[in-house]
Amino acid sequence: MATQTAIIPTGSKGSKQLRACLLCSLIQHPLDFRKYGCPNCEELMQMKNSGDRVTVCTTTHYDGVIAVINTEKSWVAKWQRTSKYVRGMYAIRVRGRIPEDVEHELENRGIRYRPRDQMDQE
Ligand SMILES: [Zn+2]
Repeated sequence: MATQTAIIPTGSKGSKQLRACLLCSLIQHPLDFRKYGCPNCEELMQMKNSGDRVTVCTTTHYDGVIAVINTEKSWVAKWQRTSKYVRGMYAIRVRGRIPEDVEHELENRGIRYRPRDQMDQE
């Protein structure tokens, strides 16, 4: 495995085109989502090589950007074998919902989807 670090978008050029993953809130350039998928949720989202999937699984409607270094305390950890997010840039709040098929897949794994358009209350 390569290092568990997402490609961190740099510079302001074209930053409006960056997209946030609807499941884990990771922010990447859409081309990176298409090329590599989401490093956290690719198993479920299956965005690799599919521009259509990138469109439905990510959104440009997000607020706040944080750089995440230590990401163990995440609900995503419940279904991730690694129990960690990769390090990278994350949106604080994401608007929109994951596609139904992904939601069903989560349900199949016994996980209740929590829309990310609410602030996490720790
Ligand atoms: Zn993701």
